[in-house]
Amino acid sequence: MDIEFNKLIQLQDLDKEIIDTSLFLEGIPSKIEEINKKIEQSTQIVTQAKEKISQNQKNRRDLESEVKDIKEKASKYNLQLNYVKTNIEYSSLLKEIKEAQQKIDDLEEEIISEMLSADEIEDEIKTSEQKLKEAEEKYSIEKKILEQKNNESELKKKGLIQEKENLLPKIPASQTSLYLKIFKKNNNIALSPVKDDFCFMCHMRVRPQVLNELKEKEKLILCENCGRILYWLEKQP
Ligand SMILES: [Zn+2]
Repeated sequence: MDIEFNKLIQLQDLDKEIIDTSLFLEGIPSKIEEINKKIEQSTQIVTQAKEKISQNQKNRRDLESEVKDIKEKASKYNLQLNYVKTNIEYSSLLKEIKEAQQKIDDLEEEIISEMLSADEIEDEIKTSEQKLKEAEEKYSIEKKILEQKNNESELKKKGLIQEKENLLPKIPASQTSLYLKIFKKNNNIALSPVKDDFCFMCHMRVRPQVLNELKEKEKLILCENCGRILYWLEKQP
């Protein structure tokens, strides 16, 4: 009985495609995870900028209330000036008033500097929000493409498995079991064509006697080196 190498080769091709498709499918969740991480990073930048602006607003409120307190104190001192009885008291009050005014000037400078940085932070928020929007748009497209590829690959895999199930009964069980044994042992490649008198997979030269037997296609012959099922590749015209 001739060995039907075509069917074994077809089985090998199907197995290879099933493995490739499965590997592709397995990689999709981590790709989606990566995309989510990138969006998360952009979101964080926006959040940080917003936290900065609320800190800035709080600083301004604190400074302003401090200024208000000192102003109140200073106006009390000013009132007291009318009632002092000694020169010492008078000059001591004047000193307090001067110090209060100095403190107010310093605080107001700080307020201005907080206001200036508020402008910068507002710009930062705008820029980061724009970037987030762009990232979300870009990555939602990428995610959609991945989901589509996922569905396509699932379908493809189902079809391939069906095809394999249809094919298996057409190959003698002894051949498929040998195929499977070699497939598992040899990195998922059970067959190797002989090209220019060499085993294509391991590059071992095939003896002339074996070459003749291969051409007869009457039995399964394994490569003496890598153990794969050899088949004769008809020379292309
Ligand atoms: Zn070999």
